[in-house]
Amino acid sequence: MRRTLILLPLVLGSTACTTNHWYKGNTHTHTLWSDGDGAPELVAQWYVEHGYDFLVLSDHNILSNTDRWFPVVDAPNSRLTSERVDDLIARYGPDHVQTREVDGKRQMRLHTLDELRAQYEKKGQFLFIQGEEITDHFNNAPVHLNGMNLVDLIKPRGGASVRDVIQNDIDAVIEHGHEHNRPTLAHVNHPNFGWGLTIDDIAHIRGENFFEVYNGHRSVNNYGDKTHPGTEQMWDAALTQRLTELDLGPLFGLATDDAHNHYQLPEGHSNPGRGWIMVRARSLDAESILDAMHRGDFYASSGVTLNKIESDPHKLTIHIDAEPGVAYTTRFVGTRLKADANGDGQPDLGDVGEVLDETMSNPATYEFAGDELYVRAVIISSKPHPNPFAKGDHQMAWVQPIMVAATTR
Ligand SMILES: [Zn+2]
Ligand SMILES: [Zn+2]
Repeated sequence: MRRTLILLPLVLGSTACTTNHWYKGNTHTHTLWSDGDGAPELVAQWYVEHGYDFLVLSDHNILSNTDRWFPVVDAPNSRLTSERVDDLIARYGPDHVQTREVDGKRQMRLHTLDELRAQYEKKGQFLFIQGEEITDHFNNAPVHLNGMNLVDLIKPRGGASVRDVIQNDIDAVIEHGHEHNRPTLAHVNHPNFGWGLTIDDIAHIRGENFFEVYNGHRSVNNYGDKTHPGTEQMWDAALTQRLTELDLGPLFGLATDDAHNHYQLPEGHSNPGRGWIMVRARSLDAESILDAMHRGDFYASSGVTLNKIESDPHKLTIHIDAEPGVAYTTRFVGTRLKADANGDGQPDLGDVGEVLDETMSNPATYEFAGDELYVRAVIISSKPHPNPFAKGDHQMAWVQPIMVAATTR
């Protein structure tokens, strides 16, 4: 059924789109609307004040567009205490915080996305994209994915297997986009949370091609364990399958916070600020951001900033925005196609996710040999992450794969 080698250069950066800008965003975080501990305005304010350009508040199976009152409870582990209500009043003024008593119990009204927009959104400076963490499962396996730029709530669709659940929920987001005549995007979250998803599950995603290579929540097992691959290994294996036997095209990686804890900073919890994406878009609006992401014109970061990512049919060059006194190691990773050794007339595969080269130069350049199915890059800073996912983490960036030699039927 296959296969001729063709060159499919994906050109990012430089000359063609000089009017594009880098926008910093987090597409995954939680508030009191579901299981986060921060009032939505408090969560939003953190991102506004920390240099983000856009934010997706992605609560579990809910949009913040209804009249919702949250119980104020003074007890251990309560997510909304009188002290926190007082803190909100002190920050925003008494008119901003509405409380009431129902059957002798105090409640606080949660602010809606429309109210947050009125408070924080500013054209060209800060943007909210409405989103939801579609929170589904198959038996004991959690299946979570984020839908972005939604108009109304999407209910998890379930399915007959993990793979089926993922696809049904992705299809729901795609259909939502068609129905409302707007761009949407779905990204598959934390594949190793509850060891829910396998490489095969990620590889078979159709219609969308995004997953979280880095998620800042403490329970998501980004690095795998003795019997499970880490998310980077999953990325390489899934990419290799997608670009050969499945013929499904690239898979792009995101970094997100998945923050739930907005009070207990900085250690030991799932805090904001651990991971984000930098998107190179025409302007700061949902359509441009999603369009750039669908082109793969973004990178994931947990602290390393890049000035420019350039590729042409011969090489990939990464310009790092270097901080003084900090060293950067750039690792180029890919899977090679080898000469046909078994005589079936088709190229064989080299090691999946091989480190093709490593350099400490800036810019960091990798010249394609031409036999790489894809090449992606990881940049590792010598600077420790200030609030790491795991002890000992350094700041990093993940550059999206460039398809060098792909196969076609
Ligand atoms: Zn989740
Ligand atoms: Zn989440």
